[in-house]
Amino acid sequence: MKISQRLRDALLSARRVVAFTGAGMSAESGVPTFRGHQGIWKKFRPEELASMEAFLRNPALVWEWYAARKKIIREVEPNPGHYALARMESLLPSFTIVTQNIDNLHRRAGSSTIFELHGNIERNYCIDCGAPQEEERPIPSSGTPECNECSGLVRPDVVWFGEMLPEDQWEGAERAIESADVVLSIGTSGVVYPAAGLPVRGKQRGAYTVEINPEPTELSDWMDEVVRESSAAALPALVSALERGRG
Ligand code: NAD
Ligand code: ZN
Repeated sequence: MKISQRLRDALLSARRVVAFTGAGMSAESGVPTFRGHQGIWKKFRPEELASMEAFLRNPALVWEWYAARKKIIREVEPNPGHYALARMESLLPSFTIVTQNIDNLHRRAGSSTIFELHGNIERNYCIDCGAPQEEERPIPSSGTPECNECSGLVRPDVVWFGEMLPEDQWEGAERAIESADVVLSIGTSGVVYPAAGLPVRGKQRGAYTVEINPEPTELSDWMDEVVRESSAAALPALVSALERGRG
């Protein structure tokens, strides 16, 4: 795969680079995206499951969905795209991942500077007292896990539709984007706000913006360059170009 001279030069001269990632980043690991055809679980759309309203209406159903997603995520491995981003962190003066993914695969691949805008499916907390819960202890009768401190309902520590993003993660992401020389927007359809606004914010602040996605997205027209390839193919090629340029 060929990397444009312009992108190679932008990366070689950049002081700060941000990778903004979405579900497509993990597609080649075997984690279904929301908007792909595999993204439908038992005929429910994510919008019908990933909300506090849905959870309070039917916590067992929502937990069944998360249990299925947790199982997939535990069984998969990071793909060459995740490993390439971890390698970039060691090749560039400053490299930050801002992810909408909840699957923990960036960390498992070895990246360390990561802002998780939508939480992490490996964590849970109690909706009554807020206590973090190490593991789910489902109540056999209901299938819903219960808080080990106050017996309240336990939920996954992910951001649902209509909820605020975790403030520290959002502020860290904004800071990184606003000072970036290059922003790579990878595997995201760019429809979930406020996260989707970040690549354009980077561009307005002078970053060179590049989309890596086999399909056009809502963000494509805003980008300085688009790479119509999968992340597991494009990112290792980008790392090779960077290594050759450095060497
Ligand atoms: P999305 O499902 O809306 O869009 C996925 C995008 O990835 C599409 O544009 C698609 O063309 C692209 N894509 C598919 N395969 C790709 C590949 N191999 N390489 C590069 N790009 C590829 O995802 P989104 O924009 O992240 O928004 C969905 C929301 O759902 C996010 O907020 C996220 O938190 C959540 N989500 C997370 C996961 C996860 O953690 N892995 C999975 C599904 C959904
Ligand atoms: Zn509690």
